Amino acid sequence: MKEILLIKLGEIVLKGLNRKAFEDTLIKNIRRRLAKIGKFTVKSSQSTITVTPLTDEEDMDEAAECVSRIFGIAAFSRACAAEKDLENIKETAAAYLEELFGTISTFKVEAKRSDKKFPYKSPDICREVGGYLLEKFPEVTVDVHHPDVTVTVEIRDFAAYIRAGAIKGAGGIPVGTGGKACVLISGGIDSPVASYMMAKRGIELTAVHFASPPYTSERAEEKVVQLLERVARYSGRIKMLTVPFTKIQEQIRDKCREEYSTIIMRRFMMEIAEKIARQNDCQALITGESLGQVASQTLGAVVCTDSACNIPVFRPLIGMDKEEIIEISRKIDTFDISIQPYEDCCTVFTPKHPRTRPVPADVIAEQNRIDFAPLVEEAVNNVKVTIIV
Ligand code: ATP
Ligand code: MG
Repeated sequence: MKEILLIKLGEIVLKGLNRKAFEDTLIKNIRRRLAKIGKFTVKSSQSTITVTPLTDEEDMDEAAECVSRIFGIAAFSRACAAEKDLENIKETAAAYLEELFGTISTFKVEAKRSDKKFPYKSPDICREVGGYLLEKFPEVTVDVHHPDVTVTVEIRDFAAYIRAGAIKGAGGIPVGTGGKACVLISGGIDSPVASYMMAKRGIELTAVHFASPPYTSERAEEKVVQLLERVARYSGRIKMLTVPFTKIQEQIRDKCREEYSTIIMRRFMMEIAEKIARQNDCQALITGESLGQVASQTLGAVVCTDSACNIPVFRPLIGMDKEEIIEISRKIDTFDISIQPYEDCCTVFTPKHPRTRPVPADVIAEQNRIDFAPLVEEAVNNVKVTIIV
């Protein structure tokens, strides 16, 4: 029996004249993501996107899981196609629902007749199919008010579709419709969550990671790749750029007052990330900062970090508690990777008493002890590219 997916669009339906462009991007995203699993056709008609497997080999559990992580989808259902003949619809429904009906006690049938030429009206379809299911599954009864399962029979142009219940989609808007931005990604809990949140709003991600070997290990960088792989299950393809940061960090350690070292390091990160963003057509930076979480994320510190670049910086976690951030990181399956203990460049050479209220003029004076332009140039010119899919 051939199972398909019926996808209902999310916020896209609000988009008026742009709707077609949003829908086209969503279809393209669905095609690209499903191509990794098998062969499917993805088509839109009558405000539903239909995903049909081309052979019997395609794993529909895997396809459903993949679709559940694509932004721009409000809800979807797994459905079975039947020829548009009432007897056939009844038999197909019974066969398709057999397993599910073994686990429930009440149901109701709803019918949607998009094809008005179909000779039976909706109430007739409900009565006929409902009656047949009652006969086939005597231990199950009808409850029209609070059924365990609502079976929907939808008569469309080319077939009738039978489905039981809808699955919640990932929400948001299709990735790629909101332009591109560059996320500063560490191996921590926060920045993968920030990445996910901005991708949900349609942003295509480029990721920048600062590595300071030998102070940070290769394993730490692999951890970031693993985190981005999890994020990519929602965002789709991510271009990751690893920046060699050792020399800059050593210069900061050797030349600047210790209490300013974190903030100066963060200013370098922003400056370098801005350059990389511009080279990669990104219009904004994204960080995982949350106000007051650590010394470098007080309002004063954020203001000081922000002034190192001339590009909008999105901080989607700024008003969230750690617990709230962790909840999302568990949902997107990044938490267990994030808590693995590997050094990040932020945690090497950390000052014992970082300034929580840095005076911008003092920070800049300290930073100016370093001849930084060539160092920044060198870092930007020596990034390593990894494509995450
Ligand atoms: P996270 O959990 O994301 O590591 P954090 O709470 O540890 O965040 P910080 O270490 O102060 O906070 O970093 C703040 C933000 O700076 C991170 O969310 C991330 O966007 C960026 N960042 C930190 N370290 C790196 C790094 N090695 N490479 C790229 N960006 C980084
Ligand atoms: Mg960190």
